[in-house]
Amino acid sequence: MPEAPHGKHGFATRMSHAGRAGVRIHGFVNPPVHRGSTVLFPDCESRVAGAKKRYDQFMTYGTQGGPTHYALEDVIAEIEGGTRCTILGTGLAAVAVPLLAFLKAGDHCLMPDSVYGPARNLATTLMQGWGIETTFYDPCVDEAGMAALIRPNTKVVYTESPGSHTFEVQDVPAISRAAHARGCKVLMDNTWGIHHFQPFRHGVDVSIQALTKYVGGHSDILLGSATVNSEEDHLAVRSAASILGQYASPDDCWLALRGVRTMAMRLKAQAEAGLEVARWLEARPEVKQVLHPALPSHPQHALWKRDFSGTCSLFGVVLQPRYSQEDMFRLVDSLRLFGIGASWGGFESLAIPTTGFLTRTAETGDFGGPTFRIHVGLEEVPDLLADLEQGLGTLPR
Ligand SMILES: *Cc1c(COP(=O)(O)O)cnc(C)c1O
Repeated sequence: MPEAPHGKHGFATRMSHAGRAGVRIHGFVNPPVHRGSTVLFPDCESRVAGAKKRYDQFMTYGTQGGPTHYALEDVIAEIEGGTRCTILGTGLAAVAVPLLAFLKAGDHCLMPDSVYGPARNLATTLMQGWGIETTFYDPCVDEAGMAALIRPNTKVVYTESPGSHTFEVQDVPAISRAAHARGCKVLMDNTWGIHHFQPFRHGVDVSIQALTKYVGGHSDILLGSATVNSEEDHLAVRSAASILGQYASPDDCWLALRGVRTMAMRLKAQAEAGLEVARWLEARPEVKQVLHPALPSHPQHALWKRDFSGTCSLFGVVLQPRYSQEDMFRLVDSLRLFGIGASWGGFESLAIPTTGFLTRTAETGDFGGPTFRIHVGLEEVPDLLADLEQGLGTLPR
């Protein structure tokens, strides 16, 4: 049996060993897929005891998850540096369940203006209908600014750093201090910062991951996770997931466990390639700005350096203001190696327009030129640069 993962080991080592030890698998390296709805009890007394322990990785029925879910939960908790994790069917479900666990009618929620679009959509449709009010705040708010936004009925301060599409890095420790001083829970969408941002060292109570992205890594599954650092928060999230009938396919959990074994290497290779592409684009005269937190030109580069240990391969590109949205569409359409598609974190490169597809209400999110988002995959960098070179060639002289 391989040694259990240990905090002193490096990331790639832990990703090779986490979620394997202690599973009775007849010597096979990987745990099997456990599929099932009915769980049999040896006697009626056990059924009574099981009902009491249902939130404690005690299998009583398929909807409570099984060994494949629990193995993945242990791995994600390890990556996030938390104590307990709940696997959910999509990243968006992992956004929705903690929000609904900590908010009720009459409560107030704060969300950054740069929040993932479908999270904003939940706040402005169902949550609003249930009497939960949401204020969208400037993601670059400081501690005093956050303190001023919190009302007596504010229960959740939501964060996402960097922001979806516009990549503002938030001062999560300062925001968390202001939130906790007023009794609010801090939720964070940490998908971009997986591994490189340790949420519980910066005051986060619930860390959300779209496992669909780098954990899956192959653009073939949808999964999410909500990780916490206390039993109390775990009970709140786990029971909300259970009440709402949330469930994830064990086959997808198994694919995520497969993805995680190579994630350290993929993340490293893609981050390096992404930075190379970002620097190349930044030096081009057609480009006004590259929105990549790891570039010194990024407005919150200092915050990124302080709180993150590295980067992923997702960033924004702002073209010079002389170009139109149609010019940018033509450029993106002309790319051969960059598919036009949502989601990211897979092995393949993507490009998708940002301008024309954003909702912002607290600040403009306008960088003064047509903007698109790039995800760099595992292709060779010279091939990607040649494709971008011909793409930039479609812009009017
Ligand atoms: C993709 C994404 C999600 C949602 O993940 P799905 O599995 O696609 O539902 C949540 N947050 C961020 C930042 C994302 O990019």
